[in-house]
Amino acid sequence: MEETQVIIRTEQLGRRYGAITALTSLDLVVEKGDWLTVMGHSGSGKSTLLNLLGGLDRPTEGTVQVAGQDLSGLSENELARFRREQIGIIFQQHHLIPYLTALENVMMAQYIHSVVDEVEARGALERVGMGHRLRNRPGELSGGEQQRVCIARAIINSPALLLADEPTGNLDGGATRMVLELLRELRAEEGFSIVLVTHNQEVAAWGDRTIQMDDGLVIRDDLVGGTPA
Ligand code: ADP
Ligand code: MG
Repeated sequence: MEETQVIIRTEQLGRRYGAITALTSLDLVVEKGDWLTVMGHSGSGKSTLLNLLGGLDRPTEGTVQVAGQDLSGLSENELARFRREQIGIIFQQHHLIPYLTALENVMMAQYIHSVVDEVEARGALERVGMGHRLRNRPGELSGGEQQRVCIARAIINSPALLLADEPTGNLDGGATRMVLELLRELRAEEGFSIVLVTHNQEVAAWGDRTIQMDDGLVIRDDLVGGTPA
């Protein structure tokens, strides 16, 4: 595989917290444009993996390469820049600022990334179908609508990799489908790759490939076969 077609490459990647091994011996290669689903019990290391891929945390073992950059070699400043330029993140808890409107929440992300551009922020909210709710605060929006604002916020810097940690965990079936359809659409338009954590088999079906984690180890990867769940 040409290196230019690889978005993620980890070698013997591991993360220990004192005596706890949160992630161990992970060799993972993900192709650009792919949608990888990560499943596994609570505490199996899913968020740890996402944090390492997003440069939010550093490995204690092995290496992690994202978008051609070896994150282990980056300084704190370089890592912050890597996050700004390459990574978009969506969480289960929306982490929107309650006293800012939808538009202001997206503009706040712009402010952190680079410069505030209201037209661009408005455009991002229109793309996620929230053009009519620009002036509403999170408390005035449904769970699905809040998650759409988060998606607008995550894609504002055209990330190479979108990380989603149980993004539909708090949503009902209808809102879940809407969020997944939106991610599928945006990926087709923007060409970013996705790593999405979920407990839900139906949600996993939206991805191209699923890995299953248990106790810090990948115990199943449907790319290399194994027992179907
Ligand atoms: P998951 O997202 O699959 O529920 P995590 O990646 O959050 O699992 O956690 C994996 C393991 O690492 C758990 O045993 C958890 O308690 C531990 N862990 C995660 N983050 C920390 C931390 N900052 N300090 C200590 N232990 C942690
Ligand atoms: Mg988690």
